[in-house]
Formats: sequence, structure tokens, C-alpha cells
Amino acid sequence: MTSVSLDNGDRLEVGIVVNSAGPNAGTVAAMAGLVLPVEPRKRNVFVFEARDKYSDMPLLVDPSGIYVRPEGSVYLTGGAEPEEGDGSADPTDFEVDWPLFEEVIWPVLATRIPAFEAIKPTRAWAGHYDYNTLDQNAVIGPHPQVKSFLFANGFSGHGLQQAPAVGKALAELIVHGGYRTVDCSAFGYSRVAEGRAFRELNVI
Ligand SMILES: Cc1cc2nc3c(=O)[nH]c(=O)nc-3n(C[C@H](O)[C@H](O)[C@H](O)COP(=O)(O)OP(=O)(O)OC[C@H]3O[C@@H](n4cnc5c(N)ncnc54)[C@H](O)[C@@H]3O)c2cc1C
Repeated sequence: MTSVSLDNGDRLEVGIVVNSAGPNAGTVAAMAGLVLPVEPRKRNVFVFEARDKYSDMPLLVDPSGIYVRPEGSVYLTGGAEPEEGDGSADPTDFEVDWPLFEEVIWPVLATRIPAFEAIKPTRAWAGHYDYNTLDQNAVIGPHPQVKSFLFANGFSGHGLQQAPAVGKALAELIVHGGYRTVDCSAFGYSRVAEGRAFRELNVI
């Protein structure tokens, strides 16, 4: 990698490029002619109120993948897949899928926790997982052939909690030429090239 072109026509000379494009990471890798199995997958999060308060309730995950946890005086829920099935989504689509709450999530919540038969959704939002279709795990570090192109991608819904460690690891890689405190070798791109999954099982 010697340069990056911006939308406004500017061209930046670069020594190293870090792909940190989240759900668009596969598209950005393709700009460099590289294959990265990361795609945007839409996810909705709903906030609801309930008459009965369970403020010390832990995060609960139903076998269907639907989860719920308290957030102050309200509750957060999500984890249901769209009716048409899970798959690559339009990364510019942030429309909340309200029927998902009414028809899929609420019945599951009410079955698990009868008090949640009487709840009131208050707000919601939609976003996109940076979904690694190989193994739902992060891809971190350089491309084996294009060594100046670094990946920080594919977090598949758990990137916030991993961000501090990944940032530190990549900084060490760039400054020192190797990992010092956080060894991210297991997350390297070679497993993608070899089709060797390093599967994350705990994805909600
Ligand atoms: C509904 C939902 C709930 C989540 N819950 C959790 C959770 O509970 N715990 C957790 O750990 N993680 C959670 N995540 C996942 C977490 O949000 C992501 O893994 C994390 O934000 C990824 O960080 P990132 O910096 O890699 O990418 P992002 O935060 O997506 O940032 C990517 C950036 O790249 C920019 N960009 C994209 N394409 C281009 C381009 N071509 N040129 C220039 N810039 C570009 C974007 O504008 C954006 O600013 C959740 C995600 C969603 C959608």
C-alpha cells in the first residue's frame, strides 16, 4: 500500500493502512483487492418499560438468541433474526424493524418471564454487526502478502468490549513490529486464507 484515495479526490501517501471500517470492512478490503469475509448484518435493539422491576436481573439469553437485561429503570432486548433470515444487509438501512419486537421478541420474553406480558416498548434503534461469516471472530493484524494493510475487523457484535485490547495490539504491531502485551496472533488473517475457523460461540 502506497496511497489511499479519498472521496473528494485527495490522495494520501501512506506507510500503513488500518482497515477499521466496521460493517463496511469487506468493501474496503476489496478496494485494495483483498478478500475479507465481513458483511453488514442488521440488528435491532428495543427498550421497554415493565410494571414489575427486576433491577438486579442478570443478562438472560434465550436459546433462540433473544436476550434481555435491565438498563436502569428500563430493559434492553434484541437478538431476533429478521423474518427473511439473516444475511448481508444494506449498511445505510437504519429503519427499526418494529414487527420483530411485536411478533418475535415479545412472545419469547413473556414465555420466559410472565411479568413481561405487560410491557411497553419506548424506543429502539437499528445498526449493523461487522459480521465475519467464517467464524464470527475478529480478524486482526497484517495481510500475509500485503503486509502494510492491517485488519481490525469482523468483531461480529462484540467489538466494543474488544476495542481497547485490539487498539493496543495494533499500536504495538505498528510501533514495535510485533505484539508485546496482547498477542493477537490467533486472530490473524492466515486462518481466513486457509478457511480455518477460530469460532466464537458466544454471539448474541
Ligand atoms: C445493535 C448492536 C449492538 C451491539 N452491542 C454490542 C455489545 O453489547 N458489546 C460489544 O462489545 N459490541 C457490541 N456491538 C458491536 C460493536 O458496536 C462493534 O463491534 C464495534 O462498534 C466495531 O467498532 P469498529 O471501530 O471496528 O467499527 P465501527 O464502530 O462500525 O466504525 C467504523 C467506522 O468506519 C467508517 N467507515 C466505513 N466505511 C468507510 C469508508 N469507506 N471510508 C471511510 N470511513 C468509513 C464508519 O463511518 C465508522 O465511523 C453491537 C453492535 C450493534 C449493531
